Amino acid sequence: MDFDLFVIGGGSAGVRCGRIAAGHGARVGIAEERFWGGTCVNIGCVPKKFMVYAAEYGMNADDARGYGWDIAKGGHDWAALIAAKDKEIARLNGIYLRLLNQAGAKIFEAKARFIDAHTLDVGGARVTAEKIVVATGGHPTRLDIPGAELGVVSDDIFYLKEMPKRVAIIGGGYIAVEFAGIFAGLGAQTHLIYRQPLPLRGFDEDLRLGLAEALTANGVIIHRDVTPESIAEVDGEKALALSDLSVLNVDMVFFATGRAPNVAGLGLDEAGVSVAANGAIAVDAELRTNVPHIYAIGDVTDRLNLTPVATAEGHAVADSLFGNKPRTVSLENVPTAVFSIPPIATVGITEDQAPDGARVFVTKFTPMRHQITGRPRRTLMKLIVDGRSDRVLGAHMLGEDAPEIIQGLAVAIIAGATKADFDRTIGIHPTAAEEFVTLRTQTRIVGEDVGGE
Ligand SMILES: Cc1cc2nc3c(=O)[nH]c(=O)nc-3n(C[C@H](O)[C@H](O)[C@H](O)COP(=O)(O)OP(=O)(O)OC[C@H]3O[C@@H](n4cnc5c(N)ncnc54)[C@H](O)[C@@H]3O)c2cc1C
Repeated sequence: MDFDLFVIGGGSAGVRCGRIAAGHGARVGIAEERFWGGTCVNIGCVPKKFMVYAAEYGMNADDARGYGWDIAKGGHDWAALIAAKDKEIARLNGIYLRLLNQAGAKIFEAKARFIDAHTLDVGGARVTAEKIVVATGGHPTRLDIPGAELGVVSDDIFYLKEMPKRVAIIGGGYIAVEFAGIFAGLGAQTHLIYRQPLPLRGFDEDLRLGLAEALTANGVIIHRDVTPESIAEVDGEKALALSDLSVLNVDMVFFATGRAPNVAGLGLDEAGVSVAANGAIAVDAELRTNVPHIYAIGDVTDRLNLTPVATAEGHAVADSLFGNKPRTVSLENVPTAVFSIPPIATVGITEDQAPDGARVFVTKFTPMRHQITGRPRRTLMKLIVDGRSDRVLGAHMLGEDAPEIIQGLAVAIIAGATKADFDRTIGIHPTAAEEFVTLRTQTRIVGEDVGGE
């Protein structure tokens, strides 16, 4: 065999897996057909967060007046933002490639596909490997409606030549609400269209409600409980028809309507690897497919599609196979953030998932910064505590710095901290974070109609 391990895909999952396995002394080959670092670095988390910062700077310039600054906000230069983002991402691509090279992996800048269970075609070359890891990620999908090809998806957004002045974003998931914040913050008229009564299905209801209010406060025009029916091009504009019979005339329709695993053209049949109906590769707890020497990690398995999960899985497979450290990755209590404006972060269970008797603590307040700016913004914090053991089962926040705060709380929750542990922790003052350790008044008890005060 040419390699001990061949990794298909140089994204978050694949690069980590290849690098760590090579570090353990395995002979590693890795193929990437498009860009090193994959979705997160090139067309996901990283450029998205730069855009969120860009939108926030505009808001900060307005808010600075409240603090005495005589700032005249000029226009926003989209091309300058994209150029700065591209420069930073080129640097990151280089780092990913260098890490692999330094670890001793053999790099293939080409598409890989299975010929049989141990043989791959990599850009025309035939390679064989003892173990193979599929880390091909996913891609955005569109709704199947007439004129769908007139819309764009998240992959396109990062390379737009000009910023659209009027945008319709379809979807209520995290990518949709993040881009609603970005475009509205950069000054576009922004419509957000979703089928549910509230955005972010699956998140805690209080956060969903708070986010809908925050989006509206930021000027996003929400069209809830409606479905898009068609897109037509009229005089250079896009006309998006909705199920409530309204038509939105915009410059860009953006489908943020979900993602699907990248399995087309991979030759999984030739290798005998089974996929689910949606194309996701099915794996066991050790991330092994139905073919024992073939593994699948990250978004291509479509379980919890987050970069830190993908990298943790890549690392665990490499350690298990070549580092003499067999281990699995727990998908319980994975903290997650939504970089809306303001952001959301959450760890553990929602109130809907809480057992009867769980104690719920909620606080909502105007953040200190905005006491002076006058910007209508509310911070929401919530703890869910087991009624019997006193363990904190969930922590949720909507508000500035929420992802930074919840990352720390996630450690406490994973370590099994109780509400009493939170209570005996001294706060840092003045912060929003201190509210999490000073929540004394119980808002309600799950399963009881009236919560005690
Ligand atoms: C807009 C957006 C924002 C996001 N924001 C966040 C965030 O804030 N936080 C977060 O945690 N996650 C975020 N994510 C999700 C995150 O990007 C993914 O979970 C992560 O990139 C998954 O890593 P992966 O390695 O599984 O797949 P990918 O990063 O998609 O990597 C797969 C790689 O495989 C390559 N490839 C595919 N097929 C082949 C083949 N046959 N041969 C060779 N190469 C191939 C692809 O070109 C790609 O580079 C975001 C995603 C999007 C789209």
